[in-house]
Parts: sequence; C-alpha cells; structure tokens
Amino acid sequence: MALDPSARVLNLPAVAPQGLSLAGQTEVGELGRLLEELEVCPAPPIAWQAQLQWRQAAGASAQLWLHLQAQAQLPLGCQRCLAPVLETVQIDRWFRFVESEEVALAEDDDCEEDLLVMQSQFDLLNLLEDELLLDLPLVPMHETCPDSSPVLDRPSKKPNPFGVLAGLKNKSP
Ligand SMILES: [Zn+2]
Repeated sequence: MALDPSARVLNLPAVAPQGLSLAGQTEVGELGRLLEELEVCPAPPIAWQAQLQWRQAAGASAQLWLHLQAQAQLPLGCQRCLAPVLETVQIDRWFRFVESEEVALAEDDDCEEDLLVMQSQFDLLNLLEDELLLDLPLVPMHETCPDSSPVLDRPSKKPNPFGVLAGLKNKSP
C-alpha cells in the first residue's frame, strides 16, 4: 500500500491484514513543536520507518502493533560553548493500539509496550515528533567544542549574552 509521504494521517482500522510498511524523510521544519527546541541551523531530514501489523492474541481479537524507528540529527545548543551541535537521536519503539483511552489506562501498568488509542485519523508524524521530543538529550554538548580552549581561560573573548541582548534592545525601534 503506497502512501504519499506528505500524508500524515492514517486510517488505522482500515490497515489491511498483511499490515503496512512506511518509510519517509521529514524535514525538521515540518515538526513545529520540535523546531521550537532547536537551534537555527541546517539539519538533515529525519529518516523514519513505520511498520503496522495485526497480531492475533490468544482468546482475543487481532491487535494492531506499530514499530516506529527513526534517526535524526538535531541541532541543539551546546551547554559548554553555546554554539549549535548536531545531536543524534534514535527512536526504536513498539506500540500497541487499544480501542479506547479507558483500556489504555487500565492496561498500561501491566504491559511493557506503549499503548495508543485506535483511531481512523492517526497522525504518524505527530507521534514521531512526540518521541523525538522525549528523546532529546538533556545536556547537549560537542565532544570537542569548535573553539576547544576552556572558556575560563579567555573570558574576554566570550561574548556576554546579556551584553548581546542589550545591544539588540538598543537597535530595535
Ligand atoms: Zn560546544
């Protein structure tokens, strides 16, 4: 089953018994919430893969599972030198769809996989964005900062962020 890569919305109950395999590349700029967390810096597109498959559970109706994988290089602010650093984020997660929010809440504690609610308008890229946001490194940092001498050795060269801000303020009309 082909899918227009720009199509974000999937009709899950209509996924055929043999399942569905999707792969795509999404520009960081298409994911607005993620973009807010990033530095302004060119980033390669996010490569992702998604497999949807129905599995027969013992004594129950078939359940729909999703395997989501993605690899992204996202520009974050280095905590040491403040310059953008491309951090690699990898997603590899399994989800199981259940029929309602109530079932998800009831079963969540008893299963290892993450649960999602079955829906006819499922936004795959929205889920991808959620997962990337959850996996952003807390302390992004260059392995070796581009200007690698320790900041403390050369305080005069490091622009004072408040000074820069004040400069911007003075320029605004
Ligand atoms: Zn750095």
